[in-house]
Parts: sequence; C-alpha cells; structure tokens
Amino acid sequence: MTQIRLSYCIALLVIGTIVSSSSLAFQILPRISDVDRQLTSVGSNRWLDGAGQLVIGRFAQMIKHPVHEAIVLNALGCVVPPGDESECVTIDAVKKHQVLLYGVRWPDDPPFALNRTSPPRISGCNPNVTLRSTAQPKCWYGLFTDAAQSAPKRLAKQPEKPAFGPGDYLLYRSHFGDLQFLHSMAARDGEPAEETLQRMRMWARFLWGIAIKEIPTDQYIRNLNVEQLERLFPGDMTATNLFATGIVEVRKHLDEVAMGALLHMVQDSFSQAHTGRLPESGVRCKDIPRFLQPGKISQFYSYAGQIGSQHDREDTFKALSLQTLQTQPSVVDASRAFLTLWQEHASWEQAEKYFNCVFDLAAPQAPSGPGPYSQ
Ligand SMILES: [Zn+2]
Repeated sequence: MTQIRLSYCIALLVIGTIVSSSSLAFQILPRISDVDRQLTSVGSNRWLDGAGQLVIGRFAQMIKHPVHEAIVLNALGCVVPPGDESECVTIDAVKKHQVLLYGVRWPDDPPFALNRTSPPRISGCNPNVTLRSTAQPKCWYGLFTDAAQSAPKRLAKQPEKPAFGPGDYLLYRSHFGDLQFLHSMAARDGEPAEETLQRMRMWARFLWGIAIKEIPTDQYIRNLNVEQLERLFPGDMTATNLFATGIVEVRKHLDEVAMGALLHMVQDSFSQAHTGRLPESGVRCKDIPRFLQPGKISQFYSYAGQIGSQHDREDTFKALSLQTLQTQPSVVDASRAFLTLWQEHASWEQAEKYFNCVFDLAAPQAPSGPGPYSQ
C-alpha cells in the first residue's frame, strides 16, 4: 500500500521533497518555483540538495503527478478534453486556489508538532519546526518509513485494532492507522464497509460544517458533538490545531481547507487502489436527482495485504484519464458536484444526500481486503 498510496495520493509530495529542509523551515504553501519544478520531469533531480535527494531518490518510483490538484482545478472550471486533466495544473491556477489545494493535500501531509519532551529518534527531526514534508523532508520520510514498518507488527499483535490511533502522530494515523478513512480506506483488514463509511460520514459532516462556517474552528473537537468524532480527537484539539498547526497563513480560510480535505476523500474513493466500485448504471441520485450516481462501492480496501505490492509504477495521470474517458459521472464530476453544493451554501442535510449517493454501498457488510493490488 505504501507504494500504491504514494503513487496516487502523495503525488504532491513532489513539492515537498524537492526543497531543502533548512531554507524552507517555515514555508508551507508551494512557491511558484516549486510548482514550476513539479511540472517538469522529476526524473532529472537536478534541483535537489541533500535531504531532497535522499527522499526523492527513494520515492522516485512512486511520486508521479499532482492528480488531486488536476481533478480539483478541472472541477473548478478548467476546460480540457477528458484525458487531458493534467493541463489544468498551471502556476496561475495553483496560485489562485492555493488554500483549497492546501486542503486537498492536507490528508497526505498534515502538519503537526513533534513531541518536544521525547522527540523521534530519527535523524533530521527538529522538534522546534512543525513537521511537514516541505519543512522537514528527511524527518518526514524517516517517520513515514517507521510507520510503514511498525504498522504490520502492531496489526499482527492486535488485528482488531488499527495500528495507530489517538496519541500517535497524525502522519502515522492518516496513512497507517485509524484515520485511513481520510483516504477512503479501511483501518484494518476485515472491517465491514458500513463501519468505514460511518467514519467517513462523520468526517464529511465535520468538514462540511467548517466549510459552510457552521462549525466553529476555535473550540475543542471533542466538544462539538459531531457523532463520535471525540473518540478520534479526544484531546485539547481544535479544527485550527488539526488543519493549521504552524501554518498561520491558512487559518482565515479553514472553510476552504475543510472543503479540500473532503474532496480528497471523495477523489480517493475513485482510485482503484483505495476503493472498489461497480460500474455506474446511468441512474440519477435518488434523493438529489440533478446529479448522476457514480458506481456503487463494492469494497473498501485496507493496506495490510497491499504491502510489498509491485503496483507502484501505475501512471497516475493515465489512471485518471481512463477514469474520465470511460466513466460518467467521473471523479471530476463528483468533485464538481460537491463544489457546487458548497458554493450554494447547502446545509449538511442537503449535501448528505449527495454523499449518500456517491458512497452508496453495494454490500454494507462487505469486509475490507487488499483489493486488486494484493501480493
Ligand atoms: Zn489520499
């Protein structure tokens, strides 16, 4: 899964991994030059310095292209023929939608503070600097590797429990632990689809509330009464802490960040490495018929059996092109529909109708498994 997930949803780490850890300690949003570099082939590596070289050297097989960004920009109105979505990622477009795109990227690279009293014993980690791939690429990679190595051991001991949870670093939880639903994936093998979906719904409701400015961003999440979200974030953590630790520039626009995070989850659910979908039937959404219904979800995938997969070379833009050329509604259409509802300031009760349509389960009890990319 490490490879698969990186190939599909950490594509944006290109931005992070091509910069040095020292010069950009506090830089968070992509600089224009970074985007420019990203648009150029990463193969030559000629811009990389020490830390960047190390990370990108190992990740070169997996880092592809900014697929999430292309989908969002396409959904926002960039007009290209299906299959040419990558052309939407231009410097001007990225600059114009920087905060929304920060949110789209957030589930892959959430900023968080390192434990100062017991910092990770990984080289390149400075506990005084907020951890994010752009700020501390070497440390980020070290932690990611540590999480990937420890997760199977933890799961072997307690298969019923996610490998990581509250108290662990966000990076561990988001990619290998209880927060994998951020990517439309199950937290462990054998998790019933309706359980994964329940968490995704809770998350979507929370994000939607922030996106339409009805959920406060300065109160502890545990006090917000959003279903059982307090179980995931039991401590003194606000939405501002969650989405913008160390990143002051985005705090005025957490509505956009939340919307981006929601789009990320929706988009990952169209990735064949994350979620199994049946072919779409042509039917309209039952409760909100102005939108077409995507293929029903047959299964959420989980990462355990995906470890070691050789499917790390999938061309991500190719996968997106195949999607948009052959599927209607596509991942772009679904993203556009959520953006439309957001622009209309739809209530969660309205937005949920479309959520239910996009995440309609063919078999609620279907247990999660590794999916087609198992070993
Ligand atoms: Zn993802």
